[in-house]
Amino acid sequence: MAYIQFLGAAGTVTGSKHLINTGAMGSASTGTNTGINTSDSDGKSGFQCLIDCGLFQGKKEWRERNWQPSPIPAAEIDAVILTHAHLDHCGLLPRLVKEGFRGPIFATPATIDLCGIILPDSGHLQEEEADFHNKFRTSKHDPALPLYTEEDAQACLKQFQPVGFFESHALSPELSFRFVRAAHILGSSMVEVALKTNGATRRLLFSGDIGRVRSQHTAPGKVLYAGPQENESADVVVMESTYGNREHPTTDPRPEMAKLISDTVKRGGTVIVPAFAVERTQKFLFMLKDLMETGQVPRVPVFCDSPMAIKAVEIFVKHKEEYSEETTRMIAQYGSPVNWPGFHFATSIQESKQINDSHVPQIIVSSSGMVTGGRVLHHLAQRLPDPRNLVLFIGFQSPGTRGAIIKSGAPEVSIYSAPVPIRAQVAALEQFSDHADTRELLEWLHTFPSAPQVTYLVHGEPDAASQLQAAMQKELSWNVQVAQWMEKVEV
Ligand SMILES: [Zn+2]
Repeated sequence: MAYIQFLGAAGTVTGSKHLINTGAMGSASTGTNTGINTSDSDGKSGFQCLIDCGLFQGKKEWRERNWQPSPIPAAEIDAVILTHAHLDHCGLLPRLVKEGFRGPIFATPATIDLCGIILPDSGHLQEEEADFHNKFRTSKHDPALPLYTEEDAQACLKQFQPVGFFESHALSPELSFRFVRAAHILGSSMVEVALKTNGATRRLLFSGDIGRVRSQHTAPGKVLYAGPQENESADVVVMESTYGNREHPTTDPRPEMAKLISDTVKRGGTVIVPAFAVERTQKFLFMLKDLMETGQVPRVPVFCDSPMAIKAVEIFVKHKEEYSEETTRMIAQYGSPVNWPGFHFATSIQESKQINDSHVPQIIVSSSGMVTGGRVLHHLAQRLPDPRNLVLFIGFQSPGTRGAIIKSGAPEVSIYSAPVPIRAQVAALEQFSDHADTRELLEWLHTFPSAPQVTYLVHGEPDAASQLQAAMQKELSWNVQVAQWMEKVEV
């Protein structure tokens, strides 16, 4: 029996991990030479392929799953197909490799470029956090250990293999796949899988995270030129539901962004923007530059505080082929942010500390975007108690993360095991989202020429998933199920 098993992002938006098992195989080593060992002599039944291998983030009950051994022994997984470079989709790969996974990790070239800086940075941050806990004895674990190190992350990068969009790639005689555009972030893809089972070919579609629709008018914060691949047809669809119960504003975010920043500067405060270091940060910087050049925002110092800040800019500027006309215009007009006067890129800890010591009005853009780690923690610990400051969210905040707690209006948040009072202004610009909202998801689904036999919803909080399920049943009359963690479904 061939099946899919939902090993993550079921009941939550993080920890994306879906296993395809092709079922018992015959003489699988004949036929296509894929360079992959498909023998089942060790008792393992079927070719086993993971779609994504992401970190669980947010609530402790989820994060603890990162520390559990892989539910499927890592050495028995034959390959990983990666949809995109967000940590909740790729962030557990170094751990999987550490546990014995030796197969290839297939991803688009831009995703590989991004993982090349994001995964080592993630390992580095985890080492820093473990060091902090050991120094101040703030963990119940003695010693506190990183989930994986920067070196572990570097090691896993060697297993990446590039596959371009629309190139069909065979993994075994019964399993092949190709990437199509998801239009979520740079390099992001959906995965079309063709699986031969019981004498027939089954078409599976894994949506990964689905980006905004094509229209710049409907999605004014959109950076990429494409919308998600349309006219897909599949027997089984596994799709995300992050914004299954919400709609984004369709207004231009710039006037509100300009007002929020200008008001903060007038009262002598600092703007702190927690943002994913790649793409989201650069998108914000280009809009900010535009607002400064047109006199809508005062020219205060801007700090982009991330160890990978400059490399992230290089990748952003390198992959022009994926950007919208508006983004391409800004890159052409303003060049690389690294050369802009008044914009500073802090890569060392010393530079980061100097920002912390400064109290003139300024704008600090720092990761992580959901305040789960990274240098933004230091900035927020110092500046959240001051009502002159502004915390401006431009990304999704998964429930249970510090970002979600701050955004919810809570009076305090724990940072480095100490309570920090929240007196700063807190605001969010939802237009920056790279996820299609409910209306856009339905618009995309309407392009399918026929209904799949079944659609499984993943990557959503329970409310979002069940509301999207109801909307799809009502509007499309599709058979839609909400995937459960560890559930196996026959394909
Ligand atoms: Zn994503």
